[in-house]
Amino acid sequence: MTSSHTVRPYQSYVYAYPHKTAYRPLTGHPVGRPALRELWAGERKDALSLYLHIPFCEVRCGFCNLFTRIGAPDELTTRYLDALDRQATAVRDALGDDEPVRFAAAAFGGGTPTFLTAPELERLCDIAEKRMGADLRSVPLSVETSPSTATADRLAVLADRGTTRISIGVQSFVDAEARAAVRPQRRAEVEAALERIRDARIPVLNIDLIYGIDGQTEDSWRSSLDAALAWQPEELYLYPLYVRPLTGLGRVGAEAAADAAWDEERLRLYRGGRDHLLAHGYEQVSMRMFRRGDAPRQGPDDYACQTDGMIGLGCGARSYTSRLHYSFDYAVEMREVRAIIDGYTATEDFSRAEVGRYVDGDEARRRHLLQSLLQAEGLQLAEYHERFGAAPGDDFPSELGLFEARGWLDGSAVASGLLRLSPEGLAHSDALGPELFSPAVRAAMAAYELK
Ligand code: SF4
Repeated sequence: MTSSHTVRPYQSYVYAYPHKTAYRPLTGHPVGRPALRELWAGERKDALSLYLHIPFCEVRCGFCNLFTRIGAPDELTTRYLDALDRQATAVRDALGDDEPVRFAAAAFGGGTPTFLTAPELERLCDIAEKRMGADLRSVPLSVETSPSTATADRLAVLADRGTTRISIGVQSFVDAEARAAVRPQRRAEVEAALERIRDARIPVLNIDLIYGIDGQTEDSWRSSLDAALAWQPEELYLYPLYVRPLTGLGRVGAEAAADAAWDEERLRLYRGGRDHLLAHGYEQVSMRMFRRGDAPRQGPDDYACQTDGMIGLGCGARSYTSRLHYSFDYAVEMREVRAIIDGYTATEDFSRAEVGRYVDGDEARRRHLLQSLLQAEGLQLAEYHERFGAAPGDDFPSELGLFEARGWLDGSAVASGLLRLSPEGLAHSDALGPELFSPAVRAAMAAYELK
Protein backbone atom coordinates (compact mmCIF):
# COMPACT_ATOMS: atom_id res chain seq x y z
CA MET A 1 0.00 0.00 0.00
CA THR A 2 1.34 3.39 -0.96
CA SER A 3 1.01 6.05 1.67
CA SER A 4 -0.50 9.30 0.48
CA HIS A 5 2.29 11.03 2.39
CA THR A 6 4.78 10.01 -0.28
CA VAL A 7 2.77 11.90 -2.89
CA ARG A 8 3.25 15.64 -3.11
CA PRO A 9 -0.22 17.04 -2.43
CA TYR A 10 0.07 20.31 -4.37
CA GLN A 11 0.94 19.63 -8.01
CA SER A 12 -1.59 21.58 -9.98
CA TYR A 13 -5.05 23.03 -9.71
CA VAL A 14 -7.13 21.29 -12.35
CA TYR A 15 -9.91 23.78 -13.07
CA ALA A 16 -10.32 22.81 -16.69
CA TYR A 17 -9.17 19.80 -18.65
CA PRO A 18 -7.27 19.78 -20.93
CA HIS A 19 -5.14 22.70 -19.73
CA LYS A 20 -4.51 25.53 -22.18
CA THR A 21 -0.83 24.60 -22.43
CA ALA A 22 -2.04 21.47 -24.26
CA TYR A 23 -3.76 23.60 -26.93
CA ARG A 24 -2.03 24.01 -30.28
CA PRO A 25 -2.55 26.23 -33.33
CA LEU A 26 -5.43 24.73 -35.31
CA THR A 27 -3.62 24.86 -38.60
CA GLY A 28 -3.91 21.14 -39.41
CA HIS A 29 -7.52 21.61 -40.47
CA PRO A 30 -7.89 20.86 -44.20
CA VAL A 31 -8.80 24.45 -45.03
CA GLY A 32 -6.73 26.20 -42.39
CA ARG A 33 -8.23 27.32 -39.11
CA PRO A 34 -11.75 25.95 -38.65
CA ALA A 35 -14.66 28.35 -39.09
CA LEU A 36 -16.76 28.87 -35.95
CA ARG A 37 -19.88 28.45 -38.05
CA GLU A 38 -18.87 24.87 -38.89
CA LEU A 39 -17.70 24.10 -35.38
CA TRP A 40 -21.03 25.11 -33.88
CA ALA A 41 -23.29 23.60 -36.54
CA GLY A 42 -25.26 20.76 -35.00
CA GLU A 43 -24.20 21.59 -31.42
CA ARG A 44 -26.81 22.04 -28.72
CA LYS A 45 -27.06 25.75 -28.09
CA ASP A 46 -30.06 26.12 -25.80
CA ALA A 47 -28.14 26.13 -22.49
CA LEU A 48 -24.79 27.73 -23.26
CA SER A 49 -22.51 29.42 -20.75
CA LEU A 50 -21.10 32.82 -21.59
CA TYR A 51 -17.77 34.00 -20.23
CA LEU A 52 -16.22 37.43 -20.82
CA HIS A 53 -12.57 37.81 -19.97
CA ILE A 54 -11.10 41.16 -18.86
CA PRO A 55 -7.30 40.79 -18.76
CA PHE A 56 -6.45 43.82 -16.60
CA CYS A 57 -5.49 44.23 -12.93
CA GLU A 58 -4.28 47.17 -10.85
CA VAL A 59 -1.32 45.25 -9.39
CA ARG A 60 0.10 41.81 -9.90
CA CYS A 61 -0.54 39.48 -6.98
CA GLY A 62 2.55 37.58 -5.92
CA PHE A 63 1.01 34.16 -6.57
CA CYS A 64 -0.81 34.91 -9.81
CA ASN A 65 -0.29 32.87 -12.96
CA LEU A 66 -3.40 34.04 -14.76
CA PHE A 67 -3.52 35.76 -18.10
CA THR A 68 -3.59 39.43 -17.12
CA ARG A 69 -1.63 42.65 -17.44
CA ILE A 70 -1.09 45.39 -14.92
CA GLY A 71 -2.58 48.75 -15.60
CA ALA A 72 -4.03 49.79 -18.91
CA PRO A 73 -4.31 53.26 -20.33
CA ASP A 74 -7.92 54.32 -20.97
CA GLU A 75 -7.50 53.97 -24.68
CA LEU A 76 -6.50 50.32 -24.25
CA THR A 77 -9.65 49.38 -22.33
CA THR A 78 -11.68 51.14 -25.02
CA ARG A 79 -9.84 49.28 -27.77
CA TYR A 80 -10.32 46.04 -25.85
CA LEU A 81 -14.08 46.58 -25.50
CA ASP A 82 -14.26 47.48 -29.20
CA ALA A 83 -12.60 44.14 -30.01
CA LEU A 84 -14.93 42.27 -27.63
CA ASP A 85 -17.84 43.87 -29.44
CA ARG A 86 -16.51 42.73 -32.83
CA GLN A 87 -15.82 39.24 -31.51
CA ALA A 88 -19.30 38.97 -29.97
CA THR A 89 -20.90 40.01 -33.24
CA ALA A 90 -18.87 37.43 -35.19
CA VAL A 91 -19.52 34.63 -32.71
CA ARG A 92 -23.26 35.27 -32.48
CA ASP A 93 -23.37 35.25 -36.25
CA ALA A 94 -21.53 31.92 -36.32
CA LEU A 95 -24.01 30.37 -33.86
CA GLY A 96 -26.71 30.94 -36.46
CA ASP A 97 -30.45 30.91 -35.93
CA ASP A 98 -31.36 27.44 -37.17
CA GLU A 99 -31.67 26.11 -33.63
CA PRO A 100 -32.57 28.06 -30.51
CA VAL A 101 -29.61 29.89 -28.97
CA ARG A 102 -29.91 30.58 -25.26
CA PHE A 103 -27.46 31.35 -22.48
CA ALA A 104 -28.16 29.66 -19.15
CA ALA A 105 -25.35 31.32 -17.18
CA ALA A 106 -22.88 34.16 -17.58
CA ALA A 107 -19.66 35.24 -15.90
CA PHE A 108 -17.19 38.11 -16.13
CA GLY A 109 -13.72 37.04 -15.06
CA GLY A 110 -10.14 38.07 -15.38
CA GLY A 111 -7.96 39.60 -14.47
CA THR A 112 -10.27 41.93 -12.61
CA PRO A 113 -13.44 42.84 -14.52
CA THR A 114 -14.02 45.76 -12.13
CA PHE A 115 -10.77 47.26 -13.37
CA LEU A 116 -13.24 48.68 -15.93
CA THR A 117 -15.05 51.87 -14.95
CA ALA A 118 -18.80 51.91 -14.29
CA PRO A 119 -19.65 53.13 -17.83
CA GLU A 120 -17.30 50.49 -19.27
CA LEU A 121 -19.09 47.82 -17.23
CA GLU A 122 -22.38 49.03 -18.70
CA ARG A 123 -20.84 48.54 -22.11
CA LEU A 124 -19.64 45.06 -21.17
CA CYS A 125 -23.19 44.10 -20.13
CA ASP A 126 -24.51 45.58 -23.37
CA ILE A 127 -22.12 43.38 -25.35
CA ALA A 128 -23.38 40.29 -23.50
CA GLU A 129 -27.02 41.28 -23.95
CA LYS A 130 -27.29 43.08 -27.24
CA ARG A 131 -24.62 41.30 -29.25
CA MET A 132 -24.86 37.81 -27.76
CA GLY A 133 -28.51 37.84 -26.73
CA ALA A 134 -27.84 36.77 -23.13
CA ASP A 135 -30.64 37.79 -20.79
CA LEU A 136 -28.41 38.76 -17.88
CA ARG A 137 -31.25 39.62 -15.50
CA SER A 138 -32.79 36.17 -15.73
CA VAL A 139 -29.74 33.90 -15.48
CA PRO A 140 -26.97 33.52 -12.88
CA LEU A 141 -24.30 36.17 -13.50
CA SER A 142 -21.04 35.91 -11.61
CA VAL A 143 -18.44 38.70 -11.50
CA GLU A 144 -14.95 38.81 -9.98
CA THR A 145 -13.73 41.88 -8.14
CA SER A 146 -10.96 43.16 -5.87
CA PRO A 147 -11.05 45.33 -2.73
CA SER A 148 -9.95 48.58 -4.37
CA THR A 149 -12.06 48.24 -7.52
CA ALA A 150 -15.29 47.17 -5.77
CA THR A 151 -16.51 50.78 -5.74
CA ALA A 152 -20.12 51.77 -5.10
CA ASP A 153 -20.69 53.05 -8.65
CA ARG A 154 -19.39 49.85 -10.27
CA LEU A 155 -21.33 47.62 -7.87
CA ALA A 156 -24.50 49.61 -8.57
CA VAL A 157 -24.12 48.93 -12.31
CA LEU A 158 -23.44 45.25 -11.72
CA ALA A 159 -26.38 44.84 -9.33
CA ASP A 160 -28.69 46.70 -11.69
CA ARG A 161 -27.65 44.57 -14.66
CA GLY A 162 -28.45 41.33 -12.84
CA THR A 163 -25.31 40.15 -11.07
CA THR A 164 -26.23 37.29 -8.75
CA ARG A 165 -22.78 36.45 -7.43
CA ILE A 166 -19.77 38.59 -6.67
CA SER A 167 -16.43 37.03 -5.88
CA ILE A 168 -13.74 39.05 -4.15
CA GLY A 169 -10.10 38.08 -3.78
CA VAL A 170 -9.18 39.02 -0.22
CA GLN A 171 -6.55 36.29 0.34
CA SER A 172 -5.76 37.37 3.92
CA PHE A 173 -7.27 39.74 6.45
CA VAL A 174 -3.85 40.07 8.10
CA ASP A 175 -2.04 43.06 6.62
CA ALA A 176 1.45 41.56 7.00
CA GLU A 177 0.38 38.36 5.21
CA ALA A 178 -1.23 40.30 2.41
CA ARG A 179 2.03 42.18 1.98
CA ALA A 180 4.09 38.98 2.08
CA ALA A 181 2.27 37.02 -0.58
CA VAL A 182 -0.33 39.07 -2.24
CA ARG A 183 -0.24 42.82 -2.49
CA PRO A 184 -0.18 45.71 -0.09
CA GLN A 185 -3.75 46.12 1.07
CA ARG A 186 -5.12 47.27 4.35
CA ARG A 187 -7.70 45.34 6.27
CA ALA A 188 -9.74 48.52 6.65
CA GLU A 189 -9.97 48.80 2.85
CA VAL A 190 -11.03 45.18 2.55
CA GLU A 191 -13.72 45.59 5.20
CA ALA A 192 -15.01 48.75 3.50
CA ALA A 193 -15.20 46.90 0.16
CA LEU A 194 -17.16 44.05 1.77
CA GLU A 195 -19.55 46.56 3.26
CA ARG A 196 -20.12 48.15 -0.15
CA ILE A 197 -20.75 44.70 -1.64
CA ARG A 198 -23.30 43.82 1.04
CA ASP A 199 -24.94 47.23 0.53
CA ALA A 200 -25.30 46.45 -3.18
CA ARG A 201 -27.49 43.45 -2.24
CA ILE A 202 -26.01 41.02 -4.71
CA PRO A 203 -27.39 37.65 -3.55
CA VAL A 204 -24.19 35.60 -3.34
CA LEU A 205 -20.89 36.85 -1.93
CA ASN A 206 -17.81 34.68 -2.36
CA ILE A 207 -14.57 35.47 -0.54
CA ASP A 208 -11.26 33.95 -1.69
CA LEU A 209 -8.65 33.24 0.98
CA ILE A 210 -5.16 31.73 0.70
CA TYR A 211 -3.23 29.46 3.06
CA GLY A 212 0.47 28.70 3.08
CA ILE A 213 1.65 32.34 3.20
CA ASP A 214 5.04 33.03 4.73
CA GLY A 215 4.52 33.89 8.40
CA GLN A 216 0.95 32.57 8.49
CA THR A 217 0.17 30.46 11.56
CA GLU A 218 -2.81 28.33 12.46
CA ASP A 219 -3.97 31.19 14.67
CA SER A 220 -3.60 33.89 12.03
CA TRP A 221 -5.29 31.62 9.45
CA ARG A 222 -8.17 31.13 11.86
CA SER A 223 -8.43 34.88 12.41
CA SER A 224 -8.68 35.46 8.63
CA LEU A 225 -11.39 32.79 8.42
CA ASP A 226 -13.28 34.41 11.30
CA ALA A 227 -12.98 37.85 9.71
CA ALA A 228 -14.48 36.39 6.52
CA LEU A 229 -17.20 34.52 8.46
CA ALA A 230 -18.26 37.77 10.10
CA TRP A 231 -19.69 38.73 6.67
CA GLN A 232 -21.58 35.43 6.45
CA PRO A 233 -20.48 34.90 2.86
CA GLU A 234 -22.62 32.47 0.92
CA GLU A 235 -19.40 30.95 -0.44
CA LEU A 236 -15.77 30.76 0.56
CA TYR A 237 -12.88 29.49 -1.55
CA LEU A 238 -9.73 28.41 0.29
CA TYR A 239 -6.75 28.29 -2.04
CA PRO A 240 -3.36 26.78 -1.25
CA LEU A 241 -0.53 29.16 -2.11
CA TYR A 242 1.45 27.75 -5.01
CA VAL A 243 4.53 29.95 -5.12
CA ARG A 244 6.76 29.19 -2.19
CA PRO A 245 8.37 32.25 -0.71
CA LEU A 246 12.10 32.32 -1.43
CA THR A 247 13.88 30.83 1.53
CA GLY A 248 17.41 31.54 0.43
CA LEU A 249 18.24 27.85 0.75
CA GLY A 250 20.32 26.98 -2.26
CA ARG A 251 21.20 23.34 -1.70
CA VAL A 252 19.04 20.73 -3.37
CA GLY A 253 18.51 18.70 -0.21
CA ALA A 254 17.52 21.76 1.76
CA GLU A 255 15.06 22.78 -0.95
CA ALA A 256 13.42 19.35 -0.87
CA ALA A 257 13.16 19.47 2.92
CA ALA A 258 11.66 22.96 2.73
CA ASP A 259 9.14 21.76 0.11
CA ALA A 260 8.12 18.82 2.28
CA ALA A 261 7.71 21.04 5.32
CA TRP A 262 5.65 23.51 3.31
CA ASP A 263 3.43 20.67 2.00
CA GLU A 264 2.80 19.54 5.56
CA GLU A 265 2.08 23.09 6.64
CA ARG A 266 -0.43 23.63 3.88
CA LEU A 267 -2.16 20.31 4.59
CA ARG A 268 -2.41 21.29 8.25
CA LEU A 269 -3.88 24.70 7.41
CA TYR A 270 -6.26 23.11 4.90
CA ARG A 271 -7.59 20.64 7.45
CA GLY A 272 -7.92 23.35 10.09
CA GLY A 273 -9.74 25.65 7.67
CA ARG A 274 -12.05 22.91 6.42
CA ASP A 275 -12.98 21.81 9.94
CA HIS A 276 -13.56 25.39 11.02
CA LEU A 277 -15.95 26.06 8.15
CA LEU A 278 -17.78 22.75 8.60
CA ALA A 279 -18.26 23.65 12.27
CA HIS A 280 -19.78 26.97 11.17
CA GLY A 281 -22.51 25.45 9.02
CA TYR A 282 -20.70 25.39 5.68
CA GLU A 283 -20.70 22.39 3.40
CA GLN A 284 -17.70 21.36 1.35
CA VAL A 285 -18.33 21.43 -2.40
CA SER A 286 -14.77 20.68 -3.53
CA MET A 287 -11.28 20.91 -2.09
CA ARG A 288 -11.44 24.69 -2.44
CA MET A 289 -15.12 25.56 -2.35
CA PHE A 290 -17.39 25.81 0.70
CA ARG A 291 -21.01 26.93 0.67
CA ARG A 292 -23.05 28.24 3.57
CA GLY A 293 -25.63 25.57 4.40
CA ASP A 294 -28.61 27.88 3.83
CA ALA A 295 -27.20 29.77 0.82
CA PRO A 296 -29.13 29.92 -2.43
CA ARG A 297 -27.77 27.49 -5.00
CA GLN A 298 -26.96 29.45 -8.07
CA GLY A 299 -24.02 30.18 -10.24
CA PRO A 300 -21.57 27.63 -11.47
CA ASP A 301 -20.44 25.01 -8.99
CA ASP A 302 -16.68 25.04 -9.13
CA TYR A 303 -16.43 24.22 -12.84
CA ALA A 304 -18.77 21.26 -12.67
CA CYS A 305 -20.29 21.86 -16.06
CA GLN A 306 -19.48 18.73 -17.98
CA THR A 307 -21.53 18.76 -21.05
CA ASP A 308 -22.81 22.22 -21.81
CA GLY A 309 -21.27 24.36 -24.48
CA MET A 310 -19.32 27.40 -23.48
CA ILE A 311 -18.75 30.63 -25.37
CA GLY A 312 -15.73 32.59 -24.14
CA LEU A 313 -15.11 36.11 -25.38
CA GLY A 314 -11.86 38.01 -24.84
CA CYS A 315 -8.26 37.14 -25.43
CA GLY A 316 -7.84 34.67 -22.53
CA ALA A 317 -11.26 33.01 -22.66
CA ARG A 318 -11.84 29.42 -23.74
CA SER A 319 -14.81 28.12 -25.68
CA TYR A 320 -16.04 24.53 -25.72
CA THR A 321 -18.04 22.69 -28.28
CA SER A 322 -18.68 19.00 -27.61
CA ARG A 323 -15.57 18.14 -29.66
CA LEU A 324 -13.19 21.09 -29.57
CA HIS A 325 -11.86 23.35 -26.83
CA TYR A 326 -10.39 26.52 -28.27
CA SER A 327 -9.03 29.93 -27.37
CA PHE A 328 -6.34 32.39 -28.41
CA ASP A 329 -2.64 32.12 -27.72
CA TYR A 330 -1.67 31.77 -24.07
CA ALA A 331 1.05 33.38 -21.98
CA VAL A 332 1.89 34.41 -18.43
CA GLU A 333 5.09 36.33 -19.03
CA MET A 334 4.35 40.06 -19.04
CA ARG A 335 5.71 41.04 -22.45
CA GLU A 336 3.96 38.12 -24.14
CA VAL A 337 0.67 38.92 -22.43
CA ARG A 338 0.86 42.50 -23.66
CA ALA A 339 1.63 41.37 -27.20
CA ILE A 340 -1.33 38.97 -27.20
CA ILE A 341 -3.70 41.65 -25.87
CA ASP A 342 -2.47 44.09 -28.53
CA GLY A 343 -2.90 41.42 -31.19
CA TYR A 344 -6.43 40.73 -29.96
CA THR A 345 -7.44 44.40 -30.04
CA ALA A 346 -6.14 44.69 -33.62
CA THR A 347 -8.08 41.63 -34.82
CA GLU A 348 -10.84 42.25 -37.33
CA ASP A 349 -11.74 38.70 -38.31
CA PHE A 350 -13.04 36.63 -35.40
CA SER A 351 -14.78 34.02 -37.52
CA ARG A 352 -12.30 31.17 -36.93
CA ALA A 353 -10.84 29.25 -33.99
CA GLU A 354 -7.14 29.95 -33.47
CA VAL A 355 -5.65 27.47 -31.00
CA GLY A 356 -7.28 24.52 -29.32
CA ARG A 357 -7.47 20.83 -28.72
CA TYR A 358 -9.95 18.23 -29.93
CA VAL A 359 -11.51 16.29 -27.08
CA ASP A 360 -12.08 12.78 -28.40
CA GLY A 361 -13.91 9.89 -26.73
CA ASP A 362 -11.14 8.96 -24.30
CA GLU A 363 -10.52 12.60 -23.33
CA ALA A 364 -14.24 13.21 -22.81
CA ARG A 365 -14.32 10.28 -20.36
CA ARG A 366 -11.27 11.59 -18.53
CA ARG A 367 -12.75 15.04 -18.34
CA HIS A 368 -16.03 13.75 -16.98
CA LEU A 369 -14.27 11.58 -14.39
CA LEU A 370 -11.90 14.33 -13.35
CA GLN A 371 -14.43 17.08 -12.98
CA SER A 372 -16.98 14.91 -11.17
CA LEU A 373 -14.52 13.21 -8.87
CA LEU A 374 -13.06 16.53 -7.73
CA GLN A 375 -16.50 17.54 -6.45
CA ALA A 376 -17.17 16.46 -2.88
CA GLU A 377 -20.48 14.86 -3.88
CA GLY A 378 -18.68 12.61 -6.34
CA LEU A 379 -19.46 11.01 -9.67
CA GLN A 380 -22.83 9.43 -10.33
CA LEU A 381 -22.10 5.99 -11.72
CA ALA A 382 -25.42 5.74 -13.56
CA GLU A 383 -24.84 9.07 -15.30
CA TYR A 384 -21.36 8.00 -16.40
CA HIS A 385 -22.74 4.70 -17.66
CA GLU A 386 -25.52 6.40 -19.55
CA ARG A 387 -23.08 8.75 -21.25
CA PHE A 388 -20.25 6.33 -22.02
CA GLY A 389 -21.76 2.83 -21.78
CA ALA A 390 -19.19 1.67 -19.22
CA ALA A 391 -18.14 2.06 -15.61
CA PRO A 392 -15.24 4.36 -14.69
CA GLY A 393 -13.52 1.32 -13.16
CA ASP A 394 -13.55 -0.38 -16.59
CA ASP A 395 -12.16 2.68 -18.33
CA PHE A 396 -9.55 3.70 -15.76
CA PRO A 397 -8.67 0.59 -13.72
CA SER A 398 -5.06 1.49 -12.95
CA GLU A 399 -5.73 5.09 -11.96
CA LEU A 400 -8.67 4.21 -9.72
CA GLY A 401 -6.76 1.22 -8.28
CA LEU A 402 -3.97 3.58 -7.31
CA PHE A 403 -6.37 6.05 -5.69
CA GLU A 404 -7.98 3.24 -3.74
CA ALA A 405 -4.61 1.94 -2.54
CA ARG A 406 -3.75 5.43 -1.33
CA GLY A 407 -6.96 5.68 0.67
CA TRP A 408 -8.33 8.44 -1.56
CA LEU A 409 -11.69 6.79 -2.33
CA ASP A 410 -14.72 6.52 -0.06
CA GLY A 411 -15.68 2.85 -0.46
CA SER A 412 -19.01 3.36 1.29
CA ALA A 413 -20.32 5.66 -1.48
CA VAL A 414 -20.64 2.87 -4.07
CA ALA A 415 -23.77 1.61 -2.30
CA SER A 416 -25.36 4.98 -3.11
CA GLY A 417 -24.32 4.74 -6.75
CA LEU A 418 -21.40 7.15 -6.35
CA LEU A 419 -17.68 7.17 -6.94
CA ARG A 420 -16.55 9.61 -4.28
CA LEU A 421 -13.31 10.79 -2.74
CA SER A 422 -12.54 10.24 0.92
CA PRO A 423 -11.65 13.35 2.94
CA GLU A 424 -7.97 12.51 2.32
CA GLY A 425 -8.65 12.10 -1.38
CA LEU A 426 -10.30 15.52 -1.45
CA ALA A 427 -7.32 17.00 0.44
CA HIS A 428 -5.10 15.55 -2.32
CA SER A 429 -7.23 16.85 -5.22
CA ASP A 430 -4.26 18.70 -6.69
CA ALA A 431 -2.23 15.48 -6.85
CA LEU A 432 -5.07 13.25 -7.99
CA GLY A 433 -6.27 15.50 -10.81
CA PRO A 434 -2.99 15.51 -12.76
CA GLU A 435 -2.80 11.70 -12.49
CA LEU A 436 -5.90 11.49 -14.67
CA PHE A 437 -4.36 13.45 -17.54
CA SER A 438 -3.96 11.37 -20.68
CA PRO A 439 -0.43 10.61 -21.91
CA ALA A 440 -1.08 12.80 -24.96
CA VAL A 441 -2.16 15.80 -22.87
CA ARG A 442 0.78 15.32 -20.50
CA ALA A 443 3.19 15.25 -23.44
CA ALA A 444 1.66 18.37 -24.96
CA MET A 445 1.85 20.23 -21.64
CA ALA A 446 5.45 19.17 -21.07
CA ALA A 447 6.44 20.24 -24.59
CA TYR A 448 4.78 23.61 -24.03
CA GLU A 449 6.72 24.20 -20.83
CA LEU A 450 10.00 23.61 -22.65
CA LYS A 451 9.40 26.66 -24.84
S1 SF4 B 1 -6.28 40.18 -9.06
FE1 SF4 B 1 -6.44 38.03 -9.72
S2 SF4 B 1 -5.87 38.03 -11.90
FE2 SF4 B 1 -5.20 39.99 -11.01
S3 SF4 B 1 -3.05 39.67 -10.46
FE3 SF4 B 1 -4.29 39.24 -8.63
S4 SF4 B 1 -4.74 37.03 -8.71
FE4 SF4 B 1 -3.99 37.65 -10.75
